[in-house]
Amino acid sequence: MKADADSMTWKTGEHTGVSEHMLLTVEQGKRLIDRLEQKHGLPMAEMTALIDANCPKLRDYVRLKAREIGDRIYGKNIYIRGLIEFTNYCKNDCYYCGIRCSNTKAERYRLSREDIMACCREGKKLGFRTFVLQGGEDPYYTDDCIVDLIHQIRTAFPDCAITLSIGERERESYERFWEAGADRYLLRHETAAESHYQKLHPENLSLKHRKRCLWNLKEIGYQTGCGFMVGSPGQTSEHLAEDFTFIRELQPEMVGIGPFIPHSDTPFAEETQGSMELTLYLLSLLRIQQPDLLLPATTALATIHPRGRELGIGAGANVVMPNLSPVGVRDKYALYDGKVCTGEEAAECRNCLERRMESVGYHIAVGRGDHRNIDF
Ligand code: SAH
Repeated sequence: MKADADSMTWKTGEHTGVSEHMLLTVEQGKRLIDRLEQKHGLPMAEMTALIDANCPKLRDYVRLKAREIGDRIYGKNIYIRGLIEFTNYCKNDCYYCGIRCSNTKAERYRLSREDIMACCREGKKLGFRTFVLQGGEDPYYTDDCIVDLIHQIRTAFPDCAITLSIGERERESYERFWEAGADRYLLRHETAAESHYQKLHPENLSLKHRKRCLWNLKEIGYQTGCGFMVGSPGQTSEHLAEDFTFIRELQPEMVGIGPFIPHSDTPFAEETQGSMELTLYLLSLLRIQQPDLLLPATTALATIHPRGRELGIGAGANVVMPNLSPVGVRDKYALYDGKVCTGEEAAECRNCLERRMESVGYHIAVGRGDHRNIDF
């Protein structure tokens, strides 16, 4: 296909891997975006071409569309989740992650039940109505422990949502947590492409099992979040198109995406960081593909750009997840280098976020911020 240089989209091979797919003109890109809006999905080849076509003109086009769709459903509300990173022990050895078990330099910590309750109390005072308990896969917290913890939070904070993000467990465990009162579960699938999954993880971890976990969570009734890193080593636009296809099948309530950022004590220390522009483009495409999604502007995005969160909101995100962990342990939950917001107390973070959201015309909504099912 031929087009003059000005109307051709830019090649983004250095970020997404070299694609042999069709090059689109900006006009063709816009038509595909319109089609994504109408059909809420595109065939693999077209989605790949559209992702490859990431360029300033198309980013503008998707951003405006994504914001319009987001505002229609969620208004100017940005939902906040209080993130409690309660353990950085992990039995897994994911090549990208700073708290992988073979990183002997990581200084390990665990929060006690009392520490966690104190974080929730502080969060409640600051207007949080969702607590996200996130950690490495740490067998120290048995199913019984997690069930007790959920009971205790549920009893003390009956009007708050409880979100878990503690990795892969058996279906029976997920059922017990659900019965104890957990409402939501975050488990990024990391990549929906089998070969790429193997490049990011050791042999004992499988994409099949991770997807099985996500399907189990959905079936049990959790508001479920999957997601992936943008620009992780070896990622191509075909892989990203597979992520979109998987998301279309799963119909999660939430999708977390953020740029890959290397951690100096991992096998990926020398790899290139994911691109902000591509992350923003994909956030907008996700909003268009599935309008009612809860989409966070992630800490990783804030880490690679001083206004990352605001730009994320501008691209279609509607959730932020500030840290409620005690300041003393914050910098130990180091998934990647340079993570921001590890120094401030929760109250400062809360105020800073409020200002940041207002600077782009949005405001923080106090409430559980549940997913809203919309017929689209
Ligand atoms: N153990 C839990 C929580 C993992 S940490 C689980 O398995 O779900 C949360 C997310 O941080 C991961 O899912 C991953 O997508 C992201 N992450 C890890 N290392 C990262 C890195 N180097 N750069 C960017 N994001 C990273």
